[in-house]
Amino acid sequence: MKYDYDVIAIGAGSGGLSIVERASEYGKKCAVVEAKKLGGTCVNIGCVPKKVMWFGAHIAEALRDAPDFGFDVDVKSFSWSKLVEKREQYIQNINTWYNGYMKDLGVDVLQGWGSFVDNHTVEVDGKKYTAETIVIAPGGVPDIPQDVEGAELGITSDGFFALKTQPKKVAVIGSGYIGVELAGVFQALGTDVSLLSRKDLVLRGFDDMIRENLTDAMITSGIHKEYHFRVARIYRAENGSLTVESEDGQHLEGFDEVVWAVGRRNLIEPMKIENAGLTAHSKGIIEVDDEHRTSVNNIFAIGDVTGQPQLTPVAIRAGRFLAERLYNNKPHLKLDLNAVPTVIFSHPPVGTVGLAEHDARAKYGDENVKVYTSIFTPMRYAFTEHQIKTALKLVVTGPEEKVVGIHIVGDTADEMLQGFAVAVQMGATKADLDATIAIHPSSSEELVTMR
Ligand SMILES: Cc1cc2nc3c(=O)[nH]c(=O)nc-3n(C[C@H](O)[C@H](O)[C@H](O)COP(=O)(O)OP(=O)(O)OC[C@H]3O[C@@H](n4cnc5c(N)ncnc54)[C@H](O)[C@@H]3O)c2cc1C
Repeated sequence: MKYDYDVIAIGAGSGGLSIVERASEYGKKCAVVEAKKLGGTCVNIGCVPKKVMWFGAHIAEALRDAPDFGFDVDVKSFSWSKLVEKREQYIQNINTWYNGYMKDLGVDVLQGWGSFVDNHTVEVDGKKYTAETIVIAPGGVPDIPQDVEGAELGITSDGFFALKTQPKKVAVIGSGYIGVELAGVFQALGTDVSLLSRKDLVLRGFDDMIRENLTDAMITSGIHKEYHFRVARIYRAENGSLTVESEDGQHLEGFDEVVWAVGRRNLIEPMKIENAGLTAHSKGIIEVDDEHRTSVNNIFAIGDVTGQPQLTPVAIRAGRFLAERLYNNKPHLKLDLNAVPTVIFSHPPVGTVGLAEHDARAKYGDENVKVYTSIFTPMRYAFTEHQIKTALKLVVTGPEEKVVGIHIVGDTADEMLQGFAVAVQMGATKADLDATIAIHPSSSEELVTMR
C-alpha cells in the first residue's frame, strides 16, 4: 500500500468513530486521532452526561409530586457528588468499551492532537502518518465572549460537567438549547437559577408555540428569567460570590457559578488545515458538497464542523454513509436533512421535526399553510400541585395537508417524537394521522385526533 492507512479520521467523536467503524468493516485499514477521550463531545461532555443529569432531575420532580399521589416521602438529602461520581463511572465504562471495540475492529487509536503536514499526511505527537483519505471530524468547544470583562470567571457546559458539588445559586447566560437544559437540571435539583437572555423567549428559531410554552413552564418552575439582559461584566465580590452586570447597569448578585451557554465554535485551529490546502469560512465551518467532500479531493469533513445540524445522529449518519459511498459501492446514499427530529431535554422536554410555522409560511406562502394546535394538562399533572401543560402543533401544507412540521412541548415529548418523525419522513398527510387509531390514555393520541 502506498499509504500507511486507507483512512485517517481526525477526532474520535460521533462522526470520526462512525467512519472508521464502517470502513474497517469493509476491510479498510483505519486510524482515528483523538486528543482527549474516545466518544468525543456526546459521550464525555454532551448528550450522555446531560441525559444522566436530566434523569436525576426527573426523579427530583417525581419526589416533589409524590405526596399528591398519596406517598408520605421524607427526602433526607440529595448528593450531587454521588450522582456525578456514578455518571462519570458510567462514562468511563463507555470509554473503556470503545477502546476495546476499536482494537477488535483493528482500528489504530492515535492519541494526541492531529495536524496536517500535507493533504495525505497527519502528524500526531511528533510522528507522521499517511492516508489515502482523511476525514475531519473535530467537533467544537463552547464559546466564551471576548468582549465581556471578567468573562473568564464563568464556566461553560464543560465546566458544568466538572462540578463536583452543587452550587446554591447560579446564573445561566443564554437561552438556546444548552442553556435551557442546564438551567432546568439545576432548578429541578434545588439550585436557585437565573436565566439571562437578550430575548423575551427561550429557544430562538424554534416554533413560537414551543418558545412561549417552554418559557412559561420555566418561569412557573421557579427559574428567574431576566429578559433583554446584555452582560457587560462579571466580577467577584468580597465574599467570593459572583455578580453579573448588564450593559444598562443592572446588577445580579450572589452567584456561586455563572454558566456561559452562548454557542459553540468549531475546533479547527489545531488541525493546521492550511497545510492541506483547505480553508474554513469565517465561522470556522468547513464547507462540503453533498458527499461530504471538501475543496481538497481526498479530504472529507463530517459532523459539527460542517455547519450541518449539530446533533450526534447527524454526524453518525454522515460517517456511515461516507463509508458506504466510498467502500461499498452505494453512491446514492446521501444525507437527507429535510426532516431531522430533535429533542431538547428541558423541563418539560421539547420534541420537534420539520418546519416551524413561521418557516413553513415563508416557504409555502401564508395561504398554503394550516396549523392544528392543542394545549392541555396531561393526566400525570391532573391533580398535582405543580401543573405542567403539554402543547402540540401540526404544520400542514397544500390541499392534501402534507405534514411538514410537528412540535411538542410537554412531558414525554422526548419519547413521543421518534415515531412521528418516521411519518413526516415518509411524507404523511393529516389524513394519514387521522386514520391512525389513537392510544388511550396518552398525550400522543392528541396528535392523531386534532381537529
Ligand atoms: C452540552 C451538550 C449537550 C448535547 N446534547 C445532545 C443531545 O442530547 N443529542 C444530540 O444529538 N446531540 C447533542 N449534542 C451535540 C453532539 O454532542 C454533537 O453534535 C456531536 O458530538 C458532534 O460530533 P462530531 O463528531 O462532529 O464531534 P465531537 O463529538 O465533538 O468529537 C470531536 C472529537 O475530536 C477531537 N479533536 C478535535 N480536534 C482534534 C485534533 N486536531 N486532533 C485530535 N483530536 C481532535 C475532540 O477532542 C473530540 O473528542 C450536545 C452537545 C453538547 C455540548
